[in-house]
Amino acid sequence: MKAFTYQRTTSPAEAAAASAEPNARIIAGGTNLLDLMKLEIETPVHLVDINRLDLAKIEDTPDGGLRIGALVSNSDLAADTRVRARYGVLSRALLAGASAQLRNKATTGGNLLQRTRCSYFYDITKPCNKRVPGSGCAALAGLNRMNAILGGSDQCIAANPSDMSVAMRVLDARVETVDGNGKSRDIPIADFHRLPGTTPQLDTNLQPGELITAVTLPPPPPGRQIYRKIRDRASYAFALVSVAAVVDVVAGSIRSARIACGGLAPKPWRVPQAEAALTGAQANVQSFDAAATAFLEGARGYGGNDFKIPLARRSLSAVLTHITSA
Ligand code: SF4
Repeated sequence: MKAFTYQRTTSPAEAAAASAEPNARIIAGGTNLLDLMKLEIETPVHLVDINRLDLAKIEDTPDGGLRIGALVSNSDLAADTRVRARYGVLSRALLAGASAQLRNKATTGGNLLQRTRCSYFYDITKPCNKRVPGSGCAALAGLNRMNAILGGSDQCIAANPSDMSVAMRVLDARVETVDGNGKSRDIPIADFHRLPGTTPQLDTNLQPGELITAVTLPPPPPGRQIYRKIRDRASYAFALVSVAAVVDVVAGSIRSARIACGGLAPKPWRVPQAEAALTGAQANVQSFDAAATAFLEGARGYGGNDFKIPLARRSLSAVLTHITSA
């Protein structure tokens, strides 16, 4: 690890301004950043500690939603009685992520910003456009079992590793930020993470010197909620495929449906055509199959991850069968 300076800040705007300095990084739980620093994938010269800011509250909003401070830990968020009662998909997604020790430290804001677990991103002896732009992508023709089948480019096929973000995507969360001048911004989570395109080094649309202060959840959508994660072992592993779903079904007819998947793309993946294929349809194999086909439109394997296409189809079908059963 390389030497760095350290600053403890007293306001979100001060932290945002400090993080705008060249090669400065915000630190909260540090569960991803410290690993990256030890491996010298991240080599900040200045760390801006936000842990003492007043950003660790979960508050009711006037419209019946919740405002979750950026420093709320993954454990506290999963255990909150309002989250468990009204946003079960989020609580389950959080508990499916990492280990209990990591969830105690990891924060809501940090979870949104965690970096890919593509093995070449963590191996500084291998080319990786996300780590070193222009160096190439070792995963395209290499070990890509964990990589994306949707939304990738010829420069990067990294998958987003977050479980929490998948649930927040299905719930239409919004990300609040502040800049160094105290100006705030409200970003729909659909627009928060980026696809790699020709700039795979950029994971999100956060601007330099912009700090996440909270995530807001609108009132819960009608219907049952579920989060199912398929992984190589039962605990402490990233998703091969995960499915977050909220489906409202009455007497076998689907009134509304939302589906987001993790493990398949560089950002939590949601397809309006798939949800449209379910809305107003009978809950049966034919409508589930039509939704899965729409969801996986354009999916492409790269050898080691070809299996994700049929796995995603079966996972979607299984989740929809479960959630629409009495
Ligand atoms: Fe790097 Fe992305 Fe290629 Fe992985 S998929 S090696 S993160 S450029």
